[in-house]
Amino acid sequence: MSLPLVDVSTGPVDTHCPYCSLQCGMTITARPEAEGGGYEVDGANFPTNRGALCEKGRSSVELLAHPDRLTTPLVRDHRDEPFREATWDEALDRVVAGLTVARERFGPDAAGLFGGGGLTNEKAYQAGKFVRVALGSASIDYNGRFCMSSAAAASNKAFGIDRGMPFPLADVARADTVMLVGSNPADTMPPAMRWFAAGRERGARHLVVDPRYTATAAAADVHLQPVPGTDLALANGLLHLAIKHRLVDTAYVADRTTGWDAVRRAMRQYWPDRVERITGVPVRVMERAVRMLAESRATMILSARGAEQHAKGSDTALAWINLALALGLPGRPFSGWATVTGQGNGQGGREHGQKADQLPGYRMLADPAARAHVAGVWGVDPDELPRPGVSAYEMLDRLGTPGGVRALMVVASNVVVSAPRAAHVRERLQALDFLVVSDMFLSETAELADVVLPCAQWAEEEGTMTNLEGRVLRRRRAARPPEGVRSDLEVLAELADRLGRGAFFSDDPRTVFDELRRASSGGKADYAGISYERIEAERGVFWPCPDDEHEGTPRLFRDRFATPDGRARFHVVHHRAAAESPDDEYPYRLTTGRSRAHYQSGTQTRRTKALLDAEAEPAVEIHPDLAARLGVAEGGDVLLRTRRGTARMRARLSREIRPDTVFAPFHWAGEQTINALTNPALDPASRMPEFKVCAVALEAATTTTEEVPGV
Ligand code: SF4
Repeated sequence: MSLPLVDVSTGPVDTHCPYCSLQCGMTITARPEAEGGGYEVDGANFPTNRGALCEKGRSSVELLAHPDRLTTPLVRDHRDEPFREATWDEALDRVVAGLTVARERFGPDAAGLFGGGGLTNEKAYQAGKFVRVALGSASIDYNGRFCMSSAAAASNKAFGIDRGMPFPLADVARADTVMLVGSNPADTMPPAMRWFAAGRERGARHLVVDPRYTATAAAADVHLQPVPGTDLALANGLLHLAIKHRLVDTAYVADRTTGWDAVRRAMRQYWPDRVERITGVPVRVMERAVRMLAESRATMILSARGAEQHAKGSDTALAWINLALALGLPGRPFSGWATVTGQGNGQGGREHGQKADQLPGYRMLADPAARAHVAGVWGVDPDELPRPGVSAYEMLDRLGTPGGVRALMVVASNVVVSAPRAAHVRERLQALDFLVVSDMFLSETAELADVVLPCAQWAEEEGTMTNLEGRVLRRRRAARPPEGVRSDLEVLAELADRLGRGAFFSDDPRTVFDELRRASSGGKADYAGISYERIEAERGVFWPCPDDEHEGTPRLFRDRFATPDGRARFHVVHHRAAAESPDDEYPYRLTTGRSRAHYQSGTQTRRTKALLDAEAEPAVEIHPDLAARLGVAEGGDVLLRTRRGTARMRARLSREIRPDTVFAPFHWAGEQTINALTNPALDPASRMPEFKVCAVALEAATTTTEEVPGV
């Protein structure tokens, strides 16, 4: 049975928000007379958001008829020329020529693709297949590498599988104790807070670990405020105390885990006074925290980017998993360790081949059996598939160099704003022989391109997303795309055709999804039993779901972990200093993150009137004591300088941050690009850059805009 294509003119259509991993259900209604472009949006009664939307979701329909929308391909012969409008035929000819010249001159890996964590499962799958089958290249990765990769690496090591939350979000309301580590859902996904609030109404207690006293911390019972980059030591310190006070669940450890003895011995080094010196968290607060975690019937530890976006992010996630395992949490009702995904399809985007080392179904590209299975579904020889490529930042860092990518396609990502050491990334993009960007707006990255392709956006096309819970849901088409734009799915299929590989590709979302199901069958992220019809009927289906009769898997680890012997693995992990520590020249710590009104690189939200009204520009958060030392007043301009670059933004004085640390949001471009300053030191396992801490110098700004170097 196939579902009819939605007629967007006849009534409300249920779909999902374009932004974060909560993927709130929303209902879009065409109202030609409505202010702002002809569509209205309401929250839908979906299991995660139950009718609520945050200000980003409520304002998202502004994007559908936005005057900045690209509706015609843009091309130019030289980068110092302005763009001119072109036909799709000419633009795609140029893309094929650019990719082909690079492959012929420098080998297949010289043509590559950089994707996005907002792409549907179908598009992420198509992108991975396009690079491997149509280009024969190893060069693909995506901005989700900057989001979830450390937690993913840790989950795979400890549990044998990587699904952000191993239980439905609603379980949060049933936990008696919840610790959030480096997560601020009160600002980043406000509708999720209803589950936390419901827990508190039942008497649950919440703890927050964050260098900032965030809105989430303000609602908690206990706030632990560590020095940025010391979460690993804090987790080990809590485990030391759990051992000391005999709070370890020894029966669970014996029955369900391996590796405990080595971890237990290693934790002797994390005596409380030492951990207090490293983290700045008082021993009495750690003592209270560990008792709250251990002496509760149902306890959750939820991690996010604050703990994970470090050069030791995967070890940090493992340290928190060690604590959760020692307390006997994973697999118990309303208990466990989880990571809260950031981007809309950060989860699905990494499951189906958009990552340099992975094939669909979370199979590994280096595994001969995985290669044979996926090549069989694709109808190609396994030996045709390239070997694993390099990670996102490594690919960007080598653009235009010998052995690096020379012709790059960027799909739904604005790396000039979102990548670490952003000024350097801009230079590398400018060094490419050919750059094509597919986007709905002329982003800062698209401004550098040779060809810009105008793409359809979220509510204008069909597809599936996988939310933070591992629930596969259906984004339905709820609006007509403007004349002249095309879907990325269609563009990749057309490019493959022009490259002589069209027989392997479809531009139909359902056909692509059905192929994805077959390719994922038998893999860790098994979607074989998930169909568009089931998603509709069941309001999403949790993977793994290996066949049509399987009911899906809302809760993992009840009986066994996804390791060969069914046991979870402890890992010995040790604290080490951040890649960069404060010194005389750069005496403070910079940490970065999201603000309430904006999302990712701001390509969409910086164009949304309601969100600009809420937050027109970024501010660097500075403790009043530090501001006084620097001579910086509330609202005054501050120059921030690291070894990689400079940025300028106004000051917001706040006692919510440590006096040795400043915080800045990363949604802004130009001289406000905070990622011009961040450190690309990479985690050895996940290749995650160290976004969350680096050494910074600050001064009250007196220079003019033109004098700001490094941006
Ligand atoms: Fe959209 Fe996330 Fe806001 Fe929900 S919480 S409306 S998914 S941005």
